[in-house]
Amino acid sequence: ASSAHPIRATLFPGDGIGPEIAESVKQVFNAAEVPIEWEEHYVGDKVDPRTESFLTWESLESVRRNGVGLKGPMATPIGKGHRSLNLTLRKELGLYANVRPCYSLPGYKTRYDDVDLVTIRENTEGEYSGLEHQVVRGVVESLKIITRQASLRVAEYAFHYAKANGRKRVSAIHKANIMRKTDGLFLKCCREVAEKYPDITYEEVIIDNCCMLLVKNPSLFDVLVMPNLYGDIISDLCAGLIGGLGLTPSCNIGEGGIALAEAVHGSAPDIAGKNLANPTALLLSSVMMLRHLQHNDKADQIHNAILSTIAEGKYRTGDLGGKSSTSEFTKAVCDHL
Ligand code: NAD
Repeated sequence: ASSAHPIRATLFPGDGIGPEIAESVKQVFNAAEVPIEWEEHYVGDKVDPRTESFLTWESLESVRRNGVGLKGPMATPIGKGHRSLNLTLRKELGLYANVRPCYSLPGYKTRYDDVDLVTIRENTEGEYSGLEHQVVRGVVESLKIITRQASLRVAEYAFHYAKANGRKRVSAIHKANIMRKTDGLFLKCCREVAEKYPDITYEEVIIDNCCMLLVKNPSLFDVLVMPNLYGDIISDLCAGLIGGLGLTPSCNIGEGGIALAEAVHGSAPDIAGKNLANPTALLLSSVMMLRHLQHNDKADQIHNAILSTIAEGKYRTGDLGGKSSTSEFTKAVCDHL
């Protein structure tokens, strides 16, 4: 990776605070001299018939071509005749795994100071298959779909991630004692993959017990892999363990090695345009994007600069109890580089 071959990445600044925190990422990347060319795409105001969504076909093509992207929060437009933006991205780019590292930030006190775990959520099926109907009046049915193909794919990713990141243990989270067939198949696939990774400890934890253990002692966990609905809930629980939305990054992994990193939070309309947003979650997401590209030096530099700025405590945004603006915090991160 040299400056002769710049990284090309798609950037969706998004809505609300999105453009402000995306600007922060651009400034930090400049200061860190990351050789990158951003292809910026905005969500349009009319539906593109080719995607049935406010996201254009050109935007999706840009991510497919570049293989990597960074996404700010997108406000969900209200009205009929279009697909949700996040659903469009997930389906069109085949984003099958959502990866969320959660670690305690030194110097920012929460109830725990030793959280260091990663949740990996299956993103395409389970209870989110959208197959719901009324059987007879007063009785409805929702189908939970688990396939061998999608379960193996997410399990493979979880073990690959664990190995690539020096992690020691993968826990499959399930309720197979009740959902014998669906979660049973999910576990079977995890076990098959686990056999190929003898250096990584594999365990199975029932979801209710997992919740109890996570709030009692989150340091028990390393990498967690799970079906869609459990992942949705557990990943937010874990974000709460380390201080919440403004801090938590994520990355969506898609078919053919696509990676679309995004902050976990929304467009925060209440503070948009006021230079108050905390850019940490999107900055840490951009670090995940760099790691996916194996630009680990730059990723480490930026990561350390963010952590030192927060630990120093002089420049913090309002959500972390500070008084700094988005741009003051950003400048402090750049100065730490
Ligand atoms: P939100 O995450 O936008 O805001 C919740 C609260 O957290 C607000 O008080 C907000 O000010 C605060 N907050 C969020 N991010 C922050 C940051 N970086 N720094 C400081 N404070 C921050 O959730 P919401 O209000 O429920 O949703 C607003 C819009 O965002 C909706 O249109 C929703 O659909 C959309 N949304 C998009 C995504 C996404 O694109 N992935 C995710 C969640 C919500």
